[in-house]
Amino acid sequence: LVARMRPFGTTIFAEMSALAVRTGAVNLGQGFPDTDGPPEMLAAAEAALRGGRNQYPPGPGIPELRAAVARHQRRFWDLRYDPDGEILITAGATEVIAATIMALCEPGDEVVCFEPFYDSYAASIALAGAVRRPVTLYPDGRFAFDPGQLRAAFSDRTRLVLLNSPHNPTGKVFTRDELDLIARLCRDHDVYAVTDEVYEHLVFTDSAAPHVPLATLDGMRERTLRISSAGKTFSCTGWKIGWVSGPRELISAVTRVKQFLTYVNGAPFQPAIAVALDLPDAYYRDFRDGLQARRDRLADGLARAGLRVLPSEGTYFITADISGVSDGDGIAFCRELPERLGVAAIPTQVFYDNAEPARTLVRFAFCKREEVIDEAVRRLAGP
Ligand code: PMP
Ligand code: GLN
Repeated sequence: LVARMRPFGTTIFAEMSALAVRTGAVNLGQGFPDTDGPPEMLAAAEAALRGGRNQYPPGPGIPELRAAVARHQRRFWDLRYDPDGEILITAGATEVIAATIMALCEPGDEVVCFEPFYDSYAASIALAGAVRRPVTLYPDGRFAFDPGQLRAAFSDRTRLVLLNSPHNPTGKVFTRDELDLIARLCRDHDVYAVTDEVYEHLVFTDSAAPHVPLATLDGMRERTLRISSAGKTFSCTGWKIGWVSGPRELISAVTRVKQFLTYVNGAPFQPAIAVALDLPDAYYRDFRDGLQARRDRLADGLARAGLRVLPSEGTYFITADISGVSDGDGIAFCRELPERLGVAAIPTQVFYDNAEPARTLVRFAFCKREEVIDEAVRRLAGP
């Protein structure tokens, strides 16, 4: 194994899901829903499978899906992208995050990102030979960062900022003020922004901030690659259909890399996601409201089990501090929890380079049926 990949073991999600299966634990670790997405989408996939749409789709993705992605961004965010040349369909957000970094970064270039970061970020940066410059989100209050630390993270070598909002694992939604500062620094240092917005439809109604795509801020559309994915919004994480939107030259650069990673992907799923994206606003509202109710259900249960629950403004996830119920850190807690109480969760500290502020934080996923959340809560309350 090449040196730059040696620090990366098995992903925490695979480790904890395997542990959950082995112990029969309720899996509130890896973030995947336990119900299927909208029936219209499932019917469209079935029709595509039986309708002969099983061969290589066009390189940038099928035209009907690119058009639907463009309509969707215009409907929700008033962002306009040309489906011919400004939108690329990819094998999920994961692939295009990697392809984007590989397309834009020379070895030694720096990527500013906020820690805790989604686990593929560090590996994708390393694969490109680039260097991550983490800015810490502190767990007090609402996972704010120190603006001075953000400013100091920029250098002559900075090539791009990788921003995830709504944010996994914390559930933070970046505020307009925070985004304004990030945008200003991108403009001042003339760097690109890559935004991971896979949870764009999961911002809860009681959140401090609405979701604002960074590309909508002044001078940002021309330097932003905006990434999203169908997995979360339509409860089909295994289909791996994602997309990136941005200015033509940048999309062309990312396409150059993507074509040699997977070439194309997900032929019969692409028409189905086109159908899903065009679902009426009510679908998106009910989807969010349903998850918000399950967030509250899990938060109440965690609090009753003696954990200190931090606010979750969006995503599938909520964070709890275990220091009131355990002497160890989050990793030790999560490694023994499936065996001890029959529940699996994810230690937040694995997503940090400087994990000190998050030693006792644990992430729980609430994208599960109510009875599953209730069972997890019953188990966490103890024997
Ligand atoms: N980014 C974030 C923040 C995520 O939580 C995930 C996991 N769903 C991904 C990217 C990967 O998305 P996909 O499954 O579409 O590759
Ligand atoms: N995004 C999911 C999570 O954060 C996991 C995806 C994966 O396993 N790669 O739980």
